[in-house]
Amino acid sequence: MSDWEDEYDKDGVAIPGSGPKPAPAEWKQPCDDRQGRTVDPRHNNGFGSWIGGRADDGWGGFAFSRGGRADEDWGGFGLSRGGRPDNSGGGFALRRHGDGGDGRPLPRSSDGGGGGRRRWSASGDRLDSGLRVTVTVENASVGKLIGRGGANIRELEEITGARIKVFRGAYEAEVVIWGPPEAQQRAEEMIEKLVADGNSPFTAGMSCGGLEGGASGSVWSPSALEAAKKPPPPRVPIDWNELRENRQKYEEMKWKDLPPMKKNFYVELESVYLLTAEEVNEWRQENNDVFVDDLKEVGKRRTVPKPCRTFMEAFQFYPEIMDNIHRVGFVKPTPIQSQAWPVLLSGEDLIAIAQTGTGKTLAYLLPGFIHMDGQPIPRSERGGPGMLVLTPTRELALQIEAECSKYSFKGYKSICIYGGGDRRGQITVVKGGVDIVIATPGRLNDLQMNDLINLRSITYLVLDEADRMLDMGFEPQIMKIILDIRPDRQTVMTSATWPPGVRRLSTSYLKSPMMVNVGTLDLAAVNTVQQTVLIVNEEEKKAYLFDFIRSMQPEEKVLIFVGRKIKADDLSSDMCLGGLSVRSLHGNHEQCDREDALRDFKESRVRILVATDLASRGLDVHDITHVYNYDFPRNIEEYVHRVGRTGRAGRSGASITLVTREDWRMAAELIPILERSGQEVPVELLLMAERYEKHKRDKETLQSRGGGGGGGGRGGRGRGGRDGEQSWMF
Ligand code: AMP
Repeated sequence: MSDWEDEYDKDGVAIPGSGPKPAPAEWKQPCDDRQGRTVDPRHNNGFGSWIGGRADDGWGGFAFSRGGRADEDWGGFGLSRGGRPDNSGGGFALRRHGDGGDGRPLPRSSDGGGGGRRRWSASGDRLDSGLRVTVTVENASVGKLIGRGGANIRELEEITGARIKVFRGAYEAEVVIWGPPEAQQRAEEMIEKLVADGNSPFTAGMSCGGLEGGASGSVWSPSALEAAKKPPPPRVPIDWNELRENRQKYEEMKWKDLPPMKKNFYVELESVYLLTAEEVNEWRQENNDVFVDDLKEVGKRRTVPKPCRTFMEAFQFYPEIMDNIHRVGFVKPTPIQSQAWPVLLSGEDLIAIAQTGTGKTLAYLLPGFIHMDGQPIPRSERGGPGMLVLTPTRELALQIEAECSKYSFKGYKSICIYGGGDRRGQITVVKGGVDIVIATPGRLNDLQMNDLINLRSITYLVLDEADRMLDMGFEPQIMKIILDIRPDRQTVMTSATWPPGVRRLSTSYLKSPMMVNVGTLDLAAVNTVQQTVLIVNEEEKKAYLFDFIRSMQPEEKVLIFVGRKIKADDLSSDMCLGGLSVRSLHGNHEQCDREDALRDFKESRVRILVATDLASRGLDVHDITHVYNYDFPRNIEEYVHRVGRTGRAGRSGASITLVTREDWRMAAELIPILERSGQEVPVELLLMAERYEKHKRDKETLQSRGGGGGGGGRGGRGRGGRDGEQSWMF
């Protein structure tokens, strides 16, 4: 693996050995845009440029992006190029295929903020730096490109005035072109045509000896030679104003000829219809304070759907669904299900504020099955999937897929598409025809941009754990994915929290939605967990943990949360050396290792799992008896999620949380959580909260007097600063 591959992939999974490395000075130089113009920094904060094919953005610091279809670079120094969507956030990120083409390995991306590693392989991808251009071709095309003894390359060099070198890899080769911009462009065009189209004007004159020689000794026809010597035609600038003005027209053109769609499948039973307003309110209060709101801006609905308190009230007319529910033995719908089903079956868009463990997956899956089944266009004629679930992590994606398969409806086929999984295999399954796609945004966007998946057929869209997707920086990919989904679809969004980013997403992508909030359920979940908080020194933590492990009973199972991947490895190897059976789970592990670790823990082959916050949400293991917060989480929501990994499905559980001086910022937020769930609040924690409040006040006073030292947004390494936040990335 080269230095260049030592990075993070687009799902934020770090490749082992990655680490920050400063960008070489030459990459920070402004460069021209290959047409001799200087790049235009106006489109960015700091220095950056926005040039090229279809949609590129660079925000912050130095950012430069160019090329085929859609690139984004955020923050720090970022450079990306090429035919597909790219994102890098923070630090220095540079994405390029292979090495630098001049013998130097390319710099790695920093691990700040989830920079993106991209390797792509389809032939014809183009990656350029202004100094040189790299064209990637499949190995199969290399022979005809090079020609006998390199004759074609020599000739290409002669014709175009560029210098060309071919670097062959395992599956594909890179053709690196040096020279003045015009020469690069001429060479690039000739190579692409030669590789892509055997009948191009450049190859039309080829003799019967094939591409690699003939009577004339040249692979290029005389007309091709003439054409190559002419200067390239001027590029027509894109008129963005015109595009904006005509947006509606283009939208209409894009979505014309859509097949008809049906959304309303709800028949309110008499038992629901007859519920009085008081009865509905009472039910909502008794069921985790369910709160329903109509977010339609003008002309609010006259009635808000009443809850379906039994499975029958929602699915009486769908015996196959009822059979499946009986098969798995569920007794009654969870609060989110009771209130979400009538909304979704009526065809309304829905925002569900609920977290993993509340039954939210079935809340959107079952109406989704009915929706797909009820479409006027038969399944065989749809030409693509009907339902898309976008979800932040592969663990969650796999869990949703498992739920999908558990309730297998009418033999619907589902597929899980996530980064780190077998891309080729995923493409094959998609091409074979699937009904439900469950995907992480990065990988799906990759397939979308390469026209490997048809999103036009989707009529039911789910944005699962929207807050987490935003936290992980998936917004650009979500935006691009949704551009290709018909606007009159039905959309569901779930989120554990309701921050401004999620609100913005909901206004952009949902139409007059209803909102169902099971807001206090987080606390209800932690009510079933006995929570102990221990105030300790950093150096004492290991001893506390090992004491706990030594006291564990054989049937107990503990999930230990740490803040950093390295800590997870460190602790688990210490335990292994101590003869304990343990697994660890974090983003640096290969996907198959992560799945293995989870399986071992679920099936009780190991009873200790050390994990980062990767496991704080999606993880659904019913018999975890203890959650051990070795490091305090980066925010209080994560604390609630972590603690909620135990005490599930009606069981009781216990959590132990180690709090150090460095965590004092969180003390004030932890206290109400403990109090509201009836837990003991240690006096040291109360004192810690008071000290922090005083510290804050003192600092504010100092700042208001013009002191305030530091300034200038460096952030420091503290957990509150930006750097600190990033160091907690899982
Ligand atoms: P979720 O919130 O979707 O992650 O669901 C958490 C767990 O609750 C999953 O294992 C579901 O199978 C389970 N579940 C979903 N609905 C119900 C229900 N009505 N009764 C009992 N368990 C359920």
